[in-house]
Amino acid sequence: MDKRESMWDVYLRKGMSRRSFVKSCVALTSLMGLSTDQVSKVVEAAEKKPLPVVVWIHGHECTGCDESFIRSGAPLASDLVLSQIALEYDHLLAAASGEPFEAHLEETINKYKGQYILCVEGAVCTKDNGVYCMSGGKPFIETLQHAAHNAAAVIAYGTCAASGGIQAAKPNPTGSSGISHFTGKTPVVNVPGCPPIPEVMTGVVMHVALFGTVPPLDNEGRPKQFYGNRIHDTCYRRPFFDAGMFAERFDDAGAKAGWCLYKLGCRGPETYNSCGNLRWFQGMSYPIQSGAPCIGCSNAHFWDEDPMTTRMPEYGPLGNVDKIGAALAVGTAAGVAVHGAMSVIQKQKREAEEHEKE
Ligand code: SF4
Ligand code: SF4
Repeated sequence: MDKRESMWDVYLRKGMSRRSFVKSCVALTSLMGLSTDQVSKVVEAAEKKPLPVVVWIHGHECTGCDESFIRSGAPLASDLVLSQIALEYDHLLAAASGEPFEAHLEETINKYKGQYILCVEGAVCTKDNGVYCMSGGKPFIETLQHAAHNAAAVIAYGTCAASGGIQAAKPNPTGSSGISHFTGKTPVVNVPGCPPIPEVMTGVVMHVALFGTVPPLDNEGRPKQFYGNRIHDTCYRRPFFDAGMFAERFDDAGAKAGWCLYKLGCRGPETYNSCGNLRWFQGMSYPIQSGAPCIGCSNAHFWDEDPMTTRMPEYGPLGNVDKIGAALAVGTAAGVAVHGAMSVIQKQKREAEEHEKE
């Protein structure tokens, strides 16, 4: 097999400095959710390990996830594709098409058997022998099974790939589902979202590439470093939730003042994702910041939970938010009153002490 370049080899070939290489490694370390004492390991792996071969296939989908991925800001998707991975096949980004392109997929699978990372976007449709989603002249399910069985790891990118997405919404006319039922024994990392945050995908690809293992996963196969918190845990509107201050309509004074969107359907309390930490477009914003409730797009079957902007059905762990809100509002008001009273008492005490000194 040919000697493949490492990330460091690519930087050298392009005349880029050691400083920019180390800077990229530091950024990757933080992106992968690793502590700073792991930087030297990342540098070592990036120096020595050949660029990971990536094959990216698209099933039953809208391509929104790839559209999201190419907007990765740190690292830039262009840096990832040109300097940090060897992307051998991708429907959206490739200039080639047709038979030579499909033949290249087969060559890549044969040449890098057991070594390449397979990224899959979109669901699998199973009804009528998978005829509702054809790729390269055959049902996508065949391409997926063939490519997955020979891959080192599979990354299911987007809610469609992870759990079926909108294609699997009731009544699911094409018999669509997530890909993990068709990938055999190859490890699968689920990166749900509609679409997922691009930096999350970059972080997962680089983890598999540099360490040769999938990152630690939760019980739904999602990388813990990106899906370990609920949106609600990191939401900047959380103080309003805790104080029982909720927008009741999209155009009321509470909505304009940035109050909690729970009563407008926000699924933040039951949704695990990094939107509140990483945000989108290099940290610029995320749905809740733009005034839209979280619709829980990284939850399996969220499409069946519409209408998405009406009040969420009573959420078990929280109970009835009206009662909580009322109790919290009373508690908050009582707290404010107590705090005020204590301040007055402390002020009087201080004044009395000062008076005694005179
Ligand atoms: S997860 Fe959403 S954005 Fe991604 S392919 Fe499916 S519908 Fe499109
Ligand atoms: S319910 Fe939604 S808007 Fe309110 S604090 Fe939680 S995540 Fe934020």
